[in-house]
Amino acid sequence: MKMDHTTLKIPAFLRKAFPDSCQEAEEVLQATGYELLIPDHFLRQIKACGEKGLFRQVWPHSGELAESPYFTTDPLQEQAPATRKNGTVHLLQKYSGRALLLTTSQCFGNCRFCFRRHLRKEELFHPDENAFSQEIQQMATDSSLHEIILSGGDPMTLTDTVLESLLRRLAEIPHLRRIRFHTRVVSFCPERVSEKLLKILQKSPQTLSFVLHINHPAELSQESRQAIAKLHQNGILLLQQAVLLRGINDSVDVLATLYEKLADENVVPYYLHQLDRVAGATHFEVPVEEGGKLLTELRKRLPGYAVPRYVREIPGEMSKLPVPSPPYNPGEK
Ligand SMILES: *Cc1c(COP(=O)(O)O)cnc(C)c1O
Ligand code: SF4
Repeated sequence: MKMDHTTLKIPAFLRKAFPDSCQEAEEVLQATGYELLIPDHFLRQIKACGEKGLFRQVWPHSGELAESPYFTTDPLQEQAPATRKNGTVHLLQKYSGRALLLTTSQCFGNCRFCFRRHLRKEELFHPDENAFSQEIQQMATDSSLHEIILSGGDPMTLTDTVLESLLRRLAEIPHLRRIRFHTRVVSFCPERVSEKLLKILQKSPQTLSFVLHINHPAELSQESRQAIAKLHQNGILLLQQAVLLRGINDSVDVLATLYEKLADENVVPYYLHQLDRVAGATHFEVPVEEGGKLLTELRKRLPGYAVPRYVREIPGEMSKLPVPSPPYNPGEK
């Protein structure tokens, strides 16, 4: 059952499991070159709950072939030299006080809506224990950096050895007070949250947070909730982000259930992202007007802390920007 490598062919066991949509999916894989990768745990969860909201995140769809001039291969202009900090290959700085380290191109699974789906092919890399020396030196010389975001790809796909080496070297930078992981580990590979990993995290002198990328309540399997509990028990701040996705979480009920369940697990919603307009993802877009209405409904249903910030990223801006709420009308009841 294991998918050890990415593929442009549908493996036999998946053909058997999803006979109806295999031909379309394979055509899409061949045409886009963006490989199929479904983590074992996620696949088991799809089969266990039969939830389309999970399946659609990872299964190729003919919508990926639609073209639009507004959907490009590098929507956030990450390849632009301005965001590459002082010419370092894997360190991006867009915002004040924090920078983002692209720790690996590898993910546990390939999300079909991924904004880096084109970049990741150009940037294939699997770091060893000595990787990032230039980037670490850059961080050490810039005392205005207080937080480093470990992203990718998924930083949790790094081996324990590589992760330990990276954290050990980051620990030596005194102005770096916080380390944040952006990861889908809980939804895609909860078994990765092992005792060994927790020990490595415990050794870090910095304040740690995890921003868990979770789009749908059905991602919170029993194993996923156990992984969350372990991270929480280790004093790690747990935040969550999602992308607003057509046919996956574009309903008040799905989102309210997601945020309610997350609150039960000690996870605080952080961002709900407007989809980045990456080529191949037109069919996932939900218009901002519709997103704004969903947020208004969520505010009526949930405690304030369980409502995410609805944001979009615009290249060149100093932060992610809030997507405007409906205008306040003082005369309105
Ligand atoms: C999103 C992002 C961050 C983090 O921004 P926050 O608002 O602090 O969550 C940092 N760097 C880059 C390059 C980003 O894309
Ligand atoms: S886990 Fe994140 S980076 Fe990896 S494919 Fe999914 S959206 Fe893209």
